[in-house]
Amino acid sequence: MKLLSQYTVPFNGLDNKDYDFDFTVSDEFFACFENSEIKGGDVDVKLILTKKTHSLELDISVSGKVRIECDRCLDEYYEDIDFSNKIMVEFGEETNFDTDDDFVLLKKGENEINISQFIYEFCHFALPFTRYHHDDENGNSGCNPEMLAILDKHRTTNKQETADPRWAKLTEIKNNNVK
Ligand SMILES: [Zn+2]
Repeated sequence: MKLLSQYTVPFNGLDNKDYDFDFTVSDEFFACFENSEIKGGDVDVKLILTKKTHSLELDISVSGKVRIECDRCLDEYYEDIDFSNKIMVEFGEETNFDTDDDFVLLKKGENEINISQFIYEFCHFALPFTRYHHDDENGNSGCNPEMLAILDKHRTTNKQETADPRWAKLTEIKNNNVK
């Protein structure tokens, strides 16, 4: 994962104060993570590293656009994201980034930290709950029209099945059996 090494921040010899860093991530970044729901994108990352005597504070912001799969038509589309959070870094026996969302441990004696996992997580935290193509300015769905037509047909067929008296009869028999 050579690509991810560019997100390593050295803090050895820094004074106890704030330092600013800028990064960008694109398609290759998300390709480094096997189960990424984000398929690509262009995201600016800002890091404010606050060096303290026995800890570090990482204030990380992600802002840009990412490509994800639409839940309705399954085509990929771009979603704007904007998210920021603080990570507290303390020193312990072993490096452990899987503690709490806002708190991680770095092995004593380390003098740099790689923030690619936090960038990856923050980009995913920023995703909306419902993921659909946005409507255009006329209120028309931006989804793949062919897929919409298939979905529409499917929905109509389902309705007909429900209205079919044979189904009603079957349901009645089934319900009686349950009793
Ligand atoms: Zn769609």
